[in-house]
Amino acid sequence: KPLVFSGVQPTGNLHLGNYLGAIRKFVALQNDHDCIYCVVDMHSITAQLVHEDLASQTRSITAAYLAAGIDPAKHIVFNQSRVIQHAELAWIFNCVARIGWMNRMTQFKDKAGKDRENASLGLLAYPSLMAADILLYRATHVPVGDDQKQHIELTRDIATKFNKDFSDRIRDLGFGVELMMGEEKVNGFFPLTEPMIEGPATRVMSLRDGSKKMSKSDPSDLSRINLTDDADTISKKIKKAKTDPEALPSELAGLKERPEADNLIGIYAALSDKSREAVIAEYAGQQFSTFKPALVDLAVEKLAPIASEMRRIQADTTYVDAVLKDGGERARTIAEGTMKQVREIVGFLQD
Ligand code: ATP
Ligand code: MG
Repeated sequence: KPLVFSGVQPTGNLHLGNYLGAIRKFVALQNDHDCIYCVVDMHSITAQLVHEDLASQTRSITAAYLAAGIDPAKHIVFNQSRVIQHAELAWIFNCVARIGWMNRMTQFKDKAGKDRENASLGLLAYPSLMAADILLYRATHVPVGDDQKQHIELTRDIATKFNKDFSDRIRDLGFGVELMMGEEKVNGFFPLTEPMIEGPATRVMSLRDGSKKMSKSDPSDLSRINLTDDADTISKKIKKAKTDPEALPSELAGLKERPEADNLIGIYAALSDKSREAVIAEYAGQQFSTFKPALVDLAVEKLAPIASEMRRIQADTTYVDAVLKDGGERARTIAEGTMKQVREIVGFLQD
């Protein structure tokens, strides 16, 4: 049965990219899948160790999940650090994965910057913890933005190597299941997880720079639309968004060398549930002075209800904490089941 896992780091204000690329998809998947949605607090200390407000940030991401419509009774919502098995499996995966694999990750290169020797070891090992998050539940599908595609590929590489390195023990212990590796059927322990990256807004770009993705950790607040921005702020940010002086083209091909225009069209398409083609056809030949106000109206209409629901939920920290505690208990039961078998496969002496 397909099982969905995904997570968001409590590293700052949630933005439109997080919503369109991830959270909105989490909500859409919950009718047909069993889902586990995590606030990955252990990931959030990889780039910056000390956070003044990790707890409130964690509650805020949780409130956004719930405000967007995730049902914590039917699915599992929790914060990662409660389920210590994530760290335990990540350690084993640190010994499965190769340093060379980690060095090739573009997120590491971007976040470590020039002074790579001085980046935390955790930032380098980030994808190993992410593989553990996913494979602890043997999740088969992971809805993410385009920036996480490489990490999901690495998760498959880790699963493949674990299955291969321990193939005899997995078979002897009878812990294997039949898995498809391309055309080939193999017996393995961890599934090969599929990323789910579809739609017109899989990579929402910064409003200030069409070559950078919109990020929570970008120092410029003008670069992103936060889920909690009020109508005036959304309007100001979209009106200030970098664009070029040309009118909008009549076909998608005309957006090729125009990353900022392309980004705004993608955002409009995603928010209005239309295709990019349909949006371009609608605004063909129009100036940004016409298009931007239409985008402001649309963004405010779609985001305002989520923001007010988020505020309402967040005010009740007792409720939010209870959701995370309950979710953590349910997650731990699954995680411990997996780890019991993993410890046996690796050969650790246990009671
Ligand atoms: P940080 O800058 O701290 O890494 P972030 O904005 O990248 O923050 P994450 O918590 O790392 O947010 O990612 C949460 C989810 O949001 C992931 O699935 C990621 O792929 C998705 N996501 C992040 N930024 C974008 C974006 N600009 N467009 C689409 N999806 C995005
Ligand atoms: Mg990120």
